[in-house]
Amino acid sequence: MSDTLVLALDVGGTNARGEVLDEGLGRPLVSASLPTPYGDGEATLTTIERLCGQLMSGLDATDRGRVRAVGLGVPGIIERETGVVRLASNLGWVNTPVGDRLSEKIGLPVHVHHDVTVAGLAEHTLGAGMGTDDLVAVFIGTGIAATIVCGGKAVEGGLHQAGELGHVPIVAGGLPCPCGQVGCLEMYCSARAIGHAYARAIGRPGATSLDVVNALGTDPLADQVWSEAIDWLAHGLLGVITLLSPSRLVLGGGLSEAGDALVAPLRERLETLARVAAIPEIVTAQLGQRAGVLGSGLATFRKLGTGLS
Ligand SMILES: [Zn+2]
Repeated sequence: MSDTLVLALDVGGTNARGEVLDEGLGRPLVSASLPTPYGDGEATLTTIERLCGQLMSGLDATDRGRVRAVGLGVPGIIERETGVVRLASNLGWVNTPVGDRLSEKIGLPVHVHHDVTVAGLAEHTLGAGMGTDDLVAVFIGTGIAATIVCGGKAVEGGLHQAGELGHVPIVAGGLPCPCGQVGCLEMYCSARAIGHAYARAIGRPGATSLDVVNALGTDPLADQVWSEAIDWLAHGLLGVITLLSPSRLVLGGGLSEAGDALVAPLRERLETLARVAAIPEIVTAQLGQRAGVLGSGLATFRKLGTGLS
């Protein structure tokens, strides 16, 4: 099995990225990306088929023969064993047998994974989570989601939906969330929520969380929006660390690019708030946008019974 290759894909709401990887998960043999059609399930399947075609056409005939499977990281509710996607609203899939449909089109086994779960798996195995078996990786971007690793095992939950941290309610009767609940954590401190709060504060629609970070220390409104968001994030994470007692907290996703401007005040806030939980080491993710693709490859090699552990 040592010469096995996989097509590792990470399909997001904006782009689908793919790499051809061997078991070492180092430099990709081929990489490619395509824009994802928004909310159109059939068009998304066609895009993935095209992306796989591009990846295969970048290989010579010998290497094409080494490709054993496709791994697909998807944002949504997945039945991992069957490859059925129960719901991925950005991709237009509802109860769609994505694994089987793609496998027919591509002629290879297709393994469907939850994107954040495998990104966290990659950080644990290859990135900022190396060396610990008890960690929570929190990805903060448009939404917020987490990968929980306990005793070296990724926690999926008996109903396979563990890690939806962004939809843990933190405010009774709080802001309505598109998921249908109210007071969800990601309504207060996702990158999108922070951008919206700053846009309202300065009266400039379209302002982003990056604008906030860039204005820290020079615009008091940016300082205030950032400080409030970190308060909410600390409240949410205090629940997580009190419940799970991880030894390391890995912060990933777009917001983690703020680096120490995020980590330092968050640690300070947690230390102020916590009376019961011990505060874990807090670090930023190391694999950046590649985490999803690497995790998809890693999880797929494990399905094949090979690869890094
Ligand atoms: Zn929600």
